[in-house]
Amino acid sequence: MKKVKIIVAILCICILVLPTTTHAVTLKEYENMVEKYTKELEEKEAKMAKNDKEVAEIKAKIADIEEQITEAEEEIENLKTEIDKSNKKIKKKERESKDLVQYFQVISNENTYLEYIFEADSITDMIYRVSVVEQLTDYNEEVMDDLEKLIEENKQKTKDLDEKNDELADLQVELNSEKERIETENREIEGTIPSTKGQIEYYKKQVSYYKSRGCRSNDVIGVTCDKPPVSSGGGNSNVGTGAVVGENGFRRPINGGYISWYYGGGHKGVDYAAGCGTAIYPVAAGRVYYVGNTLDAWGAKMILIVHNVNGRLVFSQYAHLQGYNVSVGQDVNIGDVIGYVGSTGNSTGCHLHLEMSRDYGWVYNGTYGQYRSNIIDPFMYVPN
Ligand SMILES: [Zn+2]
Repeated sequence: MKKVKIIVAILCICILVLPTTTHAVTLKEYENMVEKYTKELEEKEAKMAKNDKEVAEIKAKIADIEEQITEAEEEIENLKTEIDKSNKKIKKKERESKDLVQYFQVISNENTYLEYIFEADSITDMIYRVSVVEQLTDYNEEVMDDLEKLIEENKQKTKDLDEKNDELADLQVELNSEKERIETENREIEGTIPSTKGQIEYYKKQVSYYKSRGCRSNDVIGVTCDKPPVSSGGGNSNVGTGAVVGENGFRRPINGGYISWYYGGGHKGVDYAAGCGTAIYPVAAGRVYYVGNTLDAWGAKMILIVHNVNGRLVFSQYAHLQGYNVSVGQDVNIGDVIGYVGSTGNSTGCHLHLEMSRDYGWVYNGTYGQYRSNIIDPFMYVPN
């Protein structure tokens, strides 16, 4: 029981004491991202090629079915013609038989047929006469029977072909919908390709940029290579009249003015009210990380600086500036004027908005959103 308590206590202490680990990125991670997205692009392209091939096969099948249907339709037409012909022949034979009987009726009034037979001169003649009439009518009956049979056969063939055509038409519908499904899938894949290509381009740019800064695969960017200048200690002696510099090497970003808004309650930084044009200094030695007005409309003209605090990356942001005095990649010290107080963006008067963040810089690792979610109170480093 005691042992369990000790373990729990140790666990609690560890959880409390363990520092939040800096999420630093190695160049390898960027290289892996290039590889990952390149592979993704290849897979997408392969899938599209496979789909195109399948679509081509389906189209061939559909064309084949169309041909079969056309052939069957022609065959059905032929059969119908055959049936018509057979019917006509039957009619003809019927007429012939009728004519034959009529003929006998005409030449000797009624019952000519029988008279023809009974008027025979002799038995032989009579047998002959009977056989002639019987043969003729029998023959016609036989022909008609055959024709009837043929009609039945042709009708059956027509029915079979109709059924087969229905099946083919169903298959055609199925193939068409499968074709559409694949085509839709390809369009969807195609739609994601520009973003994949964008990712590849972005990470390739990162890799080549940090390689140009001397980073190798296993280097941790900003920590074991391309290190921003150390921010704590040392510093520039020419910090301006009235400068406030702390023991940790951090300083107040302007000389004079006053704090008009503290950090907290939805305000993510510290506001220093001062006249427009007042010089702004970096809160510590560091490297310029961003200069411009494209990040967000609220801050308008902004400068971002990355600081190296015992290997941990800390960022400082200066917003609503009137103008800049530095460019990206430049190393600055606490005596350097980086820009001037202004009132650009969402601001009602001349002031400097100082904001600070830790660990997640989007150039180092991902997104501006992550950067903003790691905002800290500037007074953690900057003297009040
Ligand atoms: Zn502010």
